Amino acid sequence: MAEQQVLDVPAIRERLAWIQERIERACRRAGRSPDEVTLIGVTKTFPVAVVQAAYEAGLRHFGENRVQELVAKAAVLPGRIEGGEVTWHMIGHLQRNKARDVVAHADWLHSLDNLRLAETLERRAAMADRVLPCFVEVNVSGEPTKFGLEPEAVHDFLDALAPFEHLEIVGLMTLAAPAEDPEAVRPQFRLLRRLAETYDRRNNPRVQLRYLSMGMSGDFEVAIEEGATHVRIGSALFGPRLEP
Ligand SMILES: *Cc1c(COP(=O)(O)O)cnc(C)c1O
Repeated sequence: MAEQQVLDVPAIRERLAWIQERIERACRRAGRSPDEVTLIGVTKTFPVAVVQAAYEAGLRHFGENRVQELVAKAAVLPGRIEGGEVTWHMIGHLQRNKARDVVAHADWLHSLDNLRLAETLERRAAMADRVLPCFVEVNVSGEPTKFGLEPEAVHDFLDALAPFEHLEIVGLMTLAAPAEDPEAVRPQFRLLRRLAETYDRRNNPRVQLRYLSMGMSGDFEVAIEEGATHVRIGSALFGPRLEP
């Protein structure tokens, strides 16, 4: 693999300040408080030195889309579940055979999208005597390559999660379709928010849906205007990734 450029602490600090300023402006436009928005730095494909530099620059929330990579980085900078000071977010698609690693090393999961996975996570979390905060992933763009539930299936899925006492359902998560103009995906973010707002909690009082995990480097400001509480930002913070 060709080398990815690795930014140093001052460079990351500068980008972090710029992203935070844009988050604050988006919040102001929407009449929201910046305290409501958590910035997750997505460090996938970058070496652990980048995670450490970002930590020194002040970042405390980190996201990875592969379990193995999260486990390796959390070994160096542990998450809260392991007694550390940062929060690790597993944001990528999760296979059931990796559920044990997620329960052991990830603080939050953003990609719950099927009942068999929920069953496995519930069993593992019960064994580990912990509660795993989970976002339910929704495919709002309708792209066949995307993971996540169809919007029409979300409410029934939330009902079906009622028996899982070791999973705390905190909100909905999505990836919008790639778009040159982020305005183009505003309706997709709006749809996610509407799905959360219209859920009838009487069907499952344990479901809270306090949070919306949506918005990436190219579209986080629009996502915040539409109610995002967790934005997942990679390239705008750490530079371009060399991905297949
Ligand atoms: C890679 C990734 C991101 C960050 O993407 P950028 O465009 O680099 O900000 C966010 N969410 C998920 C699920 C990802 O896999």
